[in-house]
Amino acid sequence: MTREPRRTCVACRQARGKHELVRLVRLEEGLVVVDARGRAPGRGAYVCRGEGCAARLVKGGRLSQAFRRPARAEPALVAAVQAIPGIVNVGNDVTSSGR
Ligand SMILES: [Zn+2]
Repeated sequence: MTREPRRTCVACRQARGKHELVRLVRLEEGLVVVDARGRAPGRGAYVCRGEGCAARLVKGGRLSQAFRRPARAEPALVAAVQAIPGIVNVGNDVTSSGR
């Protein structure tokens, strides 16, 4: 049994396992992008993989609340969220290659 950290989707406010969510980060200029590796520095926010929640973020002002400063997302974020493949072994990446 693994205890998975739970995170709250900033769009629908549902707590889910981390692998069900996509991590978002806010760039310095305020644009919010998908953090594909889940390791970008800074404050992250999470959104469900479903199309609906990402679309809500693009339209609504919730990102600014989530990041506590002005933030915006482009419509491309919706596709980017869905393009993220299932992240396997989140939190167990010590052994992953590439370093
Ligand atoms: Zn959601």
